Amino acid sequence: MNIILFGLPGAGKGTQTNYIIKNFNLFKISAGELLRTEAENNTPSGLEIKTILKKGSFVSDDLINGLVQKILANKKYYNRLIFDGYPRNLDQAINLNNELNKHNQKISRVLFLNVDKDVISKRILGRQTCSKCGLIFNIYFNPATSENHSCNAKFLIRRLDDNENTVMNRIETYMEKTLPLLNFYKKQNILREINAMKKIDQIYEEIQGIISTLETWLCKSYLYK
Ligand SMILES: [Zn+2]
Repeated sequence: MNIILFGLPGAGKGTQTNYIIKNFNLFKISAGELLRTEAENNTPSGLEIKTILKKGSFVSDDLINGLVQKILANKKYYNRLIFDGYPRNLDQAINLNNELNKHNQKISRVLFLNVDKDVISKRILGRQTCSKCGLIFNIYFNPATSENHSCNAKFLIRRLDDNENTVMNRIETYMEKTLPLLNFYKKQNILREINAMKKIDQIYEEIQGIISTLETWLCKSYLYK
């Protein structure tokens, strides 16, 4: 079973991915981590990535596809992958399908954590961190009170880069890039949209249900083959 997780910025993708790999025997393949790990190696592609990242430009499809190919060739990860941050465009998605095919695998489910734009901007814009104890609050959804926080309110800070335009731009860009991918997987009938407006544990419950059903089904179809 291989899964791809898509999520709007702020939808809690990181948290959900961690729950999934903890409870199911899956390995997370994050594009960002693959690139950083490779950049640490003194291989030709590692040095190339280092140069590109230094310049702040984008890594080519060929490069990232190559790194994913290596993962797919590794028996340890056979049919046990959850992709995060890959594929990023249609070419990468087609490449991924072809490579999986070569290794007798496929994408079983694509999960899209969908959220309401207004709520997500509040989630991000309202976020406050206490610089003293590190607790995180939200002025809209989970404000700091005398009951849940003991430090002085002056320690509560908001992240500076979280102005409204940045947030909305991030969401627009994400949707623009991701929509063609979602349609691509919808046509294959493997896309499942999850309402990520719910509480973290409710979202996870839904994800868990989808993956468990899939696992049971895959197990049965294997037994009766
Ligand atoms: Zn505090």
